[in-house]
Amino acid sequence: MSKFELITLPYAADGLEPVISRSTIEFHHGKHLAGYVNNLNNLIQGTEFQELSLEEIVKKSEGAISNNSGQILNHNMYFEQFTSKSEKSAPTGKLAEAIASAFGSFDSFKEEFQKKGAGLFGSGWVWLSADAGGKLVITQETNAANPVQKGLRPLLTFDVWEHAYYLDYQNRRPDHLASLWKIVDWNVIEKRYEKL
Ligand code: MN
Repeated sequence: MSKFELITLPYAADGLEPVISRSTIEFHHGKHLAGYVNNLNNLIQGTEFQELSLEEIVKKSEGAISNNSGQILNHNMYFEQFTSKSEKSAPTGKLAEAIASAFGSFDSFKEEFQKKGAGLFGSGWVWLSADAGGKLVITQETNAANPVQKGLRPLLTFDVWEHAYYLDYQNRRPDHLASLWKIVDWNVIEKRYEKL
C-alpha cells in the first residue's frame, strides 16, 4: 500500500540563498509540498491508486488525485535538482551535446527555457524533457501537469507558480527564472538523462 512521504531536501533551508530564501523554502517545501503529500495520501485511501507508484498515478488519474500527485512529482524533481554548492555552471558530456543539437547552444537553450517560463500564463511549470527518440524539447505545463502525461521523460523544471518566488521576487518572475541557473545541479540532470 502506497503511502507517500515528504522528501528530505539535499541542502539546508538557507542553502540556496540568495537565489531562493530560507523563508521561501520553508513555505514551499514545508507547507505547499507537505500539503500535496497529505492530500494525496487521504485521497488514494481505499482506491486502486494506493498500490501504484507516484508516476503511474500521475499518468492514470484525473481530478484531485491527478492534481496532488502531479504536484508531488513536479516538486520532488524541482527540489532535488538544486544544490548549495554548484560544481558546474553548465552540463557536460552527452547532455551538453543533446542541448547543443536541439537548441544550437547552451545559451540559446537557457534563453528559450526562461522565455517559455516567463510567458506561461498563470500557474505551471516549464520543463526540459526528452522524447521517445532522445530528442530534447521544452514544454509549458499548466497547473499540476507533468511531461510524463505526454509520453516525455522529464529532466529539468522551473516552477512558475507565484508561491515559488513571490516572497523573494514579488512580480519579477523573469528575474527569478534567470537566477535559478546558479543553483542547478547539472550532475543530477545528467543522471536523469543517462537513465533514459
Ligand atoms: Mn511549487
